[in-house]
Amino acid sequence: MRSLGDIVERCRLSGRSFSEQAIFMESEESGVPAETLRRRMLSRLKDMEFSVRESASDQWRGLIAPSEAPLVERYAQKGAAYSSPFVLSAARIAMAVSTYNAAMGRIVAAPTAGSCGILPGMLFACREHFGTEDEALLSGLFSAAAVGEVVASRATLAGASGGCQAECGAAVAMGSAALVTVRGGAPDAVAHGVALAFKAILGLVCDPVGGLVESPCIKRNALLVSLGALSTDLALAGVRSLIPADEVIDAMGQVGKALPETLRETGLGGLAVTPTGRSLAEQIGIQTPKG
Ligand code: SF4
Repeated sequence: MRSLGDIVERCRLSGRSFSEQAIFMESEESGVPAETLRRRMLSRLKDMEFSVRESASDQWRGLIAPSEAPLVERYAQKGAAYSSPFVLSAARIAMAVSTYNAAMGRIVAAPTAGSCGILPGMLFACREHFGTEDEALLSGLFSAAAVGEVVASRATLAGASGGCQAECGAAVAMGSAALVTVRGGAPDAVAHGVALAFKAILGLVCDPVGGLVESPCIKRNALLVSLGALSTDLALAGVRSLIPADEVIDAMGQVGKALPETLRETGLGGLAVTPTGRSLAEQIGIQTPKG
């Protein structure tokens, strides 16, 4: 799968939903029966659910990152938040799963370990707030997977190649595709959700403190679910990206190539070289070279 425009067009011709078309094309390309693909994807969903459940306690922390997801839960319970309850839940789950990853817990890297909180945050907040069943979440995951495949083939999913816009940006775009699908949105709404999400995140650099996937990664996962929720809502409301999704993804790839190496997962730029970033790294024995 190399083009979201192509998938949407095939949906129009076949009458399939975006996720059904994605399964059909994957089955055709791989020779694996659709039922087997569904079974495998359900297994990924269950792995993701496991990571959400396991990460929910306050015992997990990284080398420099504390356990902060429980703070979000307690704050949400006060009922005075500016963000919607859905977004707060998604942020809490995203932060918890990302922290769990930093603590070497078992996660689903969708699309990468660094961005592993975003998709479960968005999907399992759906379950918490709307009672969404496995079947709908599974359809969402197939749409997300198709988006990830298109991004990988046209641009990159790696922070080392394209900055955080490629990792967390792709996760947000995949999450938006999943949520549009969960709500039964039209195929072109899936593509527009992807385009809207990426447009807001173009240029985001990869600047992990000490080279660890902790700071700013964990909080970026939490913060970016709000972008995923809003791009989903805009797409479902009928807002359309003037630039088609495939072209937005191509632009993301070009921006990634233009980023200096210091801002592509080397830990040599951005937040990693702030005085506090250096000091945090030093506390665990990592020297950040002078820029
Ligand atoms: S800052 Fe870099 S390492 Fe951290 S999540 Fe983003 S792309 Fe991954």
